[in-house]
Amino acid sequence: MNDETMDNKNIIIIQDLKKRYDDGKTAALDGVDLKIRKGEFVSLMGPSGSGKTTLLNMIGALDRAEEGNITVAGHDLMEKKDFSSFRSKEIGFIFQFHNLIPNLTVSENVQITMLETEVPHEKMVQRANKLLESLNLGNKINQVPTKLSGGERQRVAIARALVNHPSIILADEPTGSLDSKTGDIILDILREIHHKENVTLLLVTHEPYVADMAERKINLMDGKIS
Ligand code: ADP
Repeated sequence: MNDETMDNKNIIIIQDLKKRYDDGKTAALDGVDLKIRKGEFVSLMGPSGSGKTTLLNMIGALDRAEEGNITVAGHDLMEKKDFSSFRSKEIGFIFQFHNLIPNLTVSENVQITMLETEVPHEKMVQRANKLLESLNLGNKINQVPTKLSGGERQRVAIARALVNHPSIILADEPTGSLDSKTGDIILDILREIHHKENVTLLLVTHEPYVADMAERKINLMDGKIS
């Protein structure tokens, strides 16, 4: 984390952020103001098309905004040239559809997140496998993801998101493709990680009961916090 420029308690500081698509015709974000404290668990709700994924993509530096200010973990993302090292150090992504690479093993799927880092290969394998064991996947490390259940795949995705010890986890409907029992197990894991590791958790959901688990709920409507 880049502490020099980070305001003491807010790990995410967004001011009047704007992002447009279709040559400016679609305002996906239309002046978002948001501050999230370090270690906070925030849920993000809003109708389809309100800009939730776009906002997560801006915070996780998957894309760039045109206007406004966005500082994440002390990094000014409007000015930053190289997003990839910022992402691998600070951000863990969990998507609705796990996005695992089908022809890599479970362990390799977790290891690839460390390729941007200086971790030696042997350590990468050790670290990935230890984390997978802690998520009760020790007997699956050499399997390919297609052999796993939906819940197991999402646990692999959680391991992949955590392996670089990110300061922020961005979860985009992480239980959206799971049955409710499996979804609850995934939510319990996320809550435990948040609690134990003091990681900042921003979770997009359309389920009010999931949103209620967070310390704070925010709503997006037409590209603005409502
Ligand atoms: P949500 O996650 O809340 O469903 P999104 O952030 O995906 O909303 O989308 C917000 C708006 O921006 C929508 O109108 C969507 O169609 C548009 N949009 C998102 N991504 C793109 C893109 N890559 N190209 C064009 N339009 C996009």
